[in-house]
Amino acid sequence: MSKILAITNQKGGVGKTTTTVNLAASLVAAQQRVLLIDLDPQGNATMGSGIEKRDLQASVYDVLIARKTIAQARQAAGAGGYDVLPANRELAGAEIELVDVLNREMRLRDALQLVINEYDYVLIDCPPALNLLTLNGLCAAKTVMIPMQCEYYALEGLSDLVNTIRKVRANLNPVLEIEGLLRTMFDPRNALAQQVSAQLEEHFGDKVYKTVIPRNIRLAEAPSYGVPALVHDKTSKGTTAYLALAAEMLQALTQTTVAI
Ligand code: ATP
Ligand code: MG
Repeated sequence: MSKILAITNQKGGVGKTTTTVNLAASLVAAQQRVLLIDLDPQGNATMGSGIEKRDLQASVYDVLIARKTIAQARQAAGAGGYDVLPANRELAGAEIELVDVLNREMRLRDALQLVINEYDYVLIDCPPALNLLTLNGLCAAKTVMIPMQCEYYALEGLSDLVNTIRKVRANLNPVLEIEGLLRTMFDPRNALAQQVSAQLEEHFGDKVYKTVIPRNIRLAEAPSYGVPALVHDKTSKGTTAYLALAAEMLQALTQTTVAI
């Protein structure tokens, strides 16, 4: 069964895109077939995967308005080894175009059905907003990964997001679950970060990934080369952390399968 994850947090700049791109490459390194869906008009995951967002023949926008299928709009992210359903600024118009469309929040989910058997993992990079695009991501997904920085206001935003996920589950996507909270850009020397991290573990228990993503310059540099950190510097701390995250996810999967 394919795993479909929405990587989401309405807060900007918390590491959603960095996580989506590097997790995609790390899962490929673990022999998984991966589709990355860029649902953000900023197109950062597209560019970070080495695809020029200004030159797209087709994008996730065409898929949402049912002008193209995913098979027609996807591209290979050469270096990362995964497929990308790319995005650019055009996607910002989708919200308005879909206003009168029935089941407009199910567009991505429906389109995904046609290709889902080709992938082990589908990772959806959501924009920093709880809008129709994110809603499409949450309706297509089975689980949600929440990247977050361990700072004071992070916890406040988290309860809004958890409430949204509850509402989506109640009204639109009954199977939706939180897969895990991921601590990103972590600096162990920062006392507040340690404190927030401990609070997260206390409140969310095993929903917090054991793997912590450190602040690492290679992760910030890699997008300027259009490659995941794994390709840019395979020994960097950032690369190692995302490989560990992929391993943690795959191990959790085997354990659940055995439990059943
Ligand atoms: P947005 O909400 O705008 O989509 P985002 O949540 O996708 O942002 P990113 O774009 O992944 O966040 O990260 C924000 C910035 O922080 C980027 O410049 C990225 O390169 C940098 N960054 C992300 N994770 C790390 C890390 N672990 N170490 C160092 N820099 C990082
Ligand atoms: Mg982003």
